[in-house]
Amino acid sequence: MPNLLNVIGNLGSTCGDCHTTGCGTCGPTVQKSEAPLVLTRRDLGKTVLAASVGALLTGCSSKQPAETETTAQTAPAAPALSPDLEVVKQSKGPIMTTLDEFYKMGPGPSSSHTMGPMRITYDFFQRVSKLPEDQLKRATALKVHLFGSLSATGKGHGTDRASLAGLLGKAPATCPPQFLDALAANPDEAHKVTIGPTTLNLTLKDIIFDATKGEFHHPNTMTAKLLAGDETLYELEYYSVGGGFIEWKGYKPPDKGQPKYPFQHARELKKYLVDDKIPLPKLLLTNEMAISGKSEKEIWEFLDQVSEVMVRGVDTGLGVESVLPGPIKLHSKAAAMQRNLKTTAKGDAARVVTRVASYGFAMGEENARGHIIVTAPTAGSAGIIPAIVKSLHDLNTPTQNIRDGFLAAAAIGYLCKHNATLSGAEGGCQAEVGVGSSMGAAMIAQTMGAGPKVVSNAAESALESHLGMTCDPVAGYVQVPCIERCAYGAVKAWTAYCIASEEIPEERRVDLDTTIAAMDLTAKEMNAKYKETSEGGLAVSLVLC
Ligand code: SF4
Repeated sequence: MPNLLNVIGNLGSTCGDCHTTGCGTCGPTVQKSEAPLVLTRRDLGKTVLAASVGALLTGCSSKQPAETETTAQTAPAAPALSPDLEVVKQSKGPIMTTLDEFYKMGPGPSSSHTMGPMRITYDFFQRVSKLPEDQLKRATALKVHLFGSLSATGKGHGTDRASLAGLLGKAPATCPPQFLDALAANPDEAHKVTIGPTTLNLTLKDIIFDATKGEFHHPNTMTAKLLAGDETLYELEYYSVGGGFIEWKGYKPPDKGQPKYPFQHARELKKYLVDDKIPLPKLLLTNEMAISGKSEKEIWEFLDQVSEVMVRGVDTGLGVESVLPGPIKLHSKAAAMQRNLKTTAKGDAARVVTRVASYGFAMGEENARGHIIVTAPTAGSAGIIPAIVKSLHDLNTPTQNIRDGFLAAAAIGYLCKHNATLSGAEGGCQAEVGVGSSMGAAMIAQTMGAGPKVVSNAAESALESHLGMTCDPVAGYVQVPCIERCAYGAVKAWTAYCIASEEIPEERRVDLDTTIAAMDLTAKEMNAKYKETSEGGLAVSLVLC
């Protein structure tokens, strides 16, 4: 493990030691404000979010001593979801989440309202591309209808431009931000898409904001159609079920294998790691291969792509200064923070913190711009892990260590998802930024070669320091306090690692399972106003002029 003081010292290094490119330190490119993206979560909090995946997953928690039966006095009653939805069925049993289900790449700012719809229309594009040629020859149009919350708040989330991009065959993970911006900036422009023998012209008007109320299978329902005049050649109903996950009518989950080392809680993991002395990355890799059926090479390639998208996002964010979309008129900060690092006289401690925080700002601001992010665990908290990865790159951390760190971070996210929630609408910001910071702390510890107890303690420390944090985004935009919280989440992750690696591991009084149980309990008892409704806290305290 590198000496901690060296780690800190390196992070505080001056420009000459900087290993990054395009960080903006040597003079950022000042770009015009991005195309406006009107975003609101106010209604979202009352509809979709109350029915989020996390609510369902809490039902599968094994009760621990720290948990007590509680009645959610203030939490809203979640509307019943169809028992047919896979997201409902999967709320039982050992953790079966895979890396590509967890680290999802796509456009921000909302995993359910932006990333999910783009994944849906890209899936539809791929399906229709496989239809028989005689059918495709007759095609005249592609249409998407948005229902429920997607229709009610979709304009604000950029659901239409994301849906159109997917329909045009742009993959969510690799779609250039400029392409998404251009779609929003030129709403009447026709875009050609070739499907087999047919080329169609599509515009944003082909994404139709349909009924907001009705008997929907899921609050985030949408249909996609391939038409020949008035005749429907092919149609499929989809659901953006939260966190970027998608399902469709008749959805059957991909066949999964059984994990070699099944676990639902950290205590079961501990048995394998400590008693059986299986290294954490090896255990998680083995499980991932068994559950997903992927090879080791495929898994590393995926994590390398995740890492690349994250670092690219941070670098892009560090090079852009703009007023972020929406009514807050929030000016981005990442580029200025980086630039000022060169000349600051505030000393090493300030340089270290500023550098890490600027990375969190950079990715959080990219999310606010609606650019490509990775859920880790959510879109709102998407700045934390990229900030960690970028700061690990600054330390010339070997690629394999970073891959192992991603595995450790995922394990923490899985545990929180399985035993509590990852949804701000269900558990407040502790469930998003708190979990992201906890994942980041585990990632740092694992990457530094720490043992399982230190990894677990670091994760616990970071999560503990976020317990009770509410979700109150101003004007419903994932900007204030979200972006700044990503910066804090990253800094706290480093702090948690520093504490955990310096203390005597066995003397830590609180274990990870206990803190996750506490988060679950706090989520259930949290006043509904503080669960992504924008009806409490900063969202009502701050008056926008
Ligand atoms: S306040 Fe936290 S939980 Fe709420 S939207 Fe922002 S990042 Fe997500």
